[in-house]
Amino acid sequence: METTIQIKPSEIKFDEKYGPFINGEIVEPANGYIDAVNAATGEVLAQIGRGGKEDIDRAVKAARAAFPSWANTTIEHRSALLSKIADVIEENQDRLKLIECMDTGRALHEFDLDYQLVISQFRYFAAAIITYYEGASRPVQNGYLLTKKEPLGVCGQIIPWNVPMIMTAAKVAPALAAGNTVVLKPAEDACLSVMEFAKLLADILPKGVVNVVPGIGGEAGQALIDHPDTDKLTFTGSVGVGRLVGRAAGDKIVPVTLELGGKSAHIVFPDVDIDPAVENATLGYTFFNGESCVLGSRLFIHDDIYDEFIEKLIERAKEIKIGPPTDRSTRLASLINEKQGKRVLDYFEIAKNEGAKILYGGNRVTVPGYEHGYFIEPTIIEADHKMRIAQEEIFGPAVTVTRWKDVDEVIKMANDVEYGLAAGIMTKDLERALDTANKLEAGSVWINQYFNFQTGAPFGGYKNSGVGREHNKEALDAYSQSKTITAGFQLPQP
Ligand code: NAD
Repeated sequence: METTIQIKPSEIKFDEKYGPFINGEIVEPANGYIDAVNAATGEVLAQIGRGGKEDIDRAVKAARAAFPSWANTTIEHRSALLSKIADVIEENQDRLKLIECMDTGRALHEFDLDYQLVISQFRYFAAAIITYYEGASRPVQNGYLLTKKEPLGVCGQIIPWNVPMIMTAAKVAPALAAGNTVVLKPAEDACLSVMEFAKLLADILPKGVVNVVPGIGGEAGQALIDHPDTDKLTFTGSVGVGRLVGRAAGDKIVPVTLELGGKSAHIVFPDVDIDPAVENATLGYTFFNGESCVLGSRLFIHDDIYDEFIEKLIERAKEIKIGPPTDRSTRLASLINEKQGKRVLDYFEIAKNEGAKILYGGNRVTVPGYEHGYFIEPTIIEADHKMRIAQEEIFGPAVTVTRWKDVDEVIKMANDVEYGLAAGIMTKDLERALDTANKLEAGSVWINQYFNFQTGAPFGGYKNSGVGREHNKEALDAYSQSKTITAGFQLPQP
């Protein structure tokens, strides 16, 4: 559902500096600042703290000090505060959407979905925590047994740049609901909305319950995963860094949740109505600028409809409006930075060299007035499913198309990647859809509607796409530990 944003981009005022948010206030970072840049214009929007070891240590100490009293609050109290956070985000969403739009370069209209998910995550965990504790007990001879859930303690959380506030909500909301305190490290490439969110929290939460330390991955991020006094690590990002986080958690023997990359198959059966199926496939590979871990980036189209489908897919790609991020009619905007833009263009070269055929797109586009931005055409590449272009995550508005004839064969191709985050199926035959969904190695499968996110449904990956689930009650398990208390009565022996 589209909403209108009342504020204009020119009315957004940034703070000059966003140091780390520690113990309820913005503080000076130990190692100075780095620029936060408008992805499409190159304009410096503000300075963000270059968090390092010292800042992380201060933040962990603040979170540790805040933990005992936060853990002892009632679930009703925590639930009420999470609802309040949802309300405050809702009140400030126009401003936050615009900030995130400028910071990431993504098209403004997309943020309606982002913030709907952000707000619903806080509302969901506000409600879910009330019914989470069941006070389970079982009869035992001459005594009582009860189990209880306890929070873990201080949670170190690291997030990427593509959807900063969705990631923040998915991590902070369940951690707080379960009674933990948090040190969050947002990505250096886009964190202004998260820093603004932290400032809003200052009026809602006790000091130290949430701390946010911006900074570079190898510095602030590394310091957070290495810190000896965290009780849980949660990470969303690349597989490579995910392995580092997993190893750090292993060394400390603390639980870890990892949400990593994806290369999701989108399978088109021959019985579909072509026009809506093309629309859905297009959304699947262009939404979030293509910078999404769940992108439907491998399209498998049945042989019977392949030629017509491709023709219409190309026609649809030609209609996509590439333009300034803050223009609400823009459908594809700027990638996050030059590094990411070049990476995407390099992949197109790799594809050509492998013998894949670019059917449409493949180029950088210049948007007048936004020459700094990396705008890339929606790109359709005919490829064999074994080629690198069809196996590796590109993180840009590109899709490989591959023909199939036999359903077992297409399921085999769909599963033949290192990832298993999401998948899509398009058919009118529900039985066939469910059978295929059962056979796909993916954490989320969308039938006839890609990107159909529902808060309350578990989200996470199979295989190298990660460990654990977020967005639902399983996340409360991931931020809790169980204690069993058994009490025996010393009765006189007969
Ligand atoms: P990245 O792994 O480079 O960075 C992610 C975060 O980790 C950033 O905050 C970064 O600063 C930090 N980091 C980097 N090096 C670190 C280190 N040595 N120690 C600790 N932290 C470190 O990933 P990215 O390029 O920012 O994001 C893109 C990746 O994220 C893609 O692979 C994408 O698939 C994945 N992603 C996954 C999901 C999901 O839910 N599964 C969602 C969004 C993005």
